[in-house]
Amino acid sequence: MSGFNLLHLVSQGQPVKLKACSLPSGTCRSKKTWPKTFTEEELRKRLTPMEYHVTQEKGTESAFAGKHTDNKEEGNYHCVVCGASLFTSDMKFDSGSGWPSFFDVINKESITQTDDFSYGMHRVEINCSQCGAHLGHVFDDGPRPSRKRYCMNSASLSFQSKNEAEPTRAASQSPSSSKNGEL
Ligand SMILES: [Zn+2]
Repeated sequence: MSGFNLLHLVSQGQPVKLKACSLPSGTCRSKKTWPKTFTEEELRKRLTPMEYHVTQEKGTESAFAGKHTDNKEEGNYHCVVCGASLFTSDMKFDSGSGWPSFFDVINKESITQTDDFSYGMHRVEINCSQCGAHLGHVFDDGPRPSRKRYCMNSASLSFQSKNEAEPTRAASQSPSSSKNGEL
């Protein structure tokens, strides 16, 4: 069953069978397979400890601690793990939550939504559809036109400024265009 079907079931208020994971959030990696996979070794090398914790262990950075929260530059936000385009600066708004917040996604298919019942709450988790990286959660208290608030972790996003004609010199690590090694 795809994530989309799951979502529909939930919005219709029908019971959903979720694979039970009795472990606390972060210790249960979803069994889903994603189009892009990376070894733990590579990701540990390439990502900062916080980026790894958020994207691979469903962590959450502290409010107001992330580098993109107050970023008002024009540009695009990508998945920090695989480089997939997720948001533009036009979709960003100041939610006051302390986390980068967006009211829309570039492409709905680029994210996967999953019910998250951790911490005794029902939230909808957002993952990158390409690599499964945990990005954050989506809430229904956003502004027009979508009323959605995609509440992301800065650590799960890389930012490409419009003003930077040239991608940063860390091009050797550029995940998008270059070949991603062996899969
Ligand atoms: Zn990704």
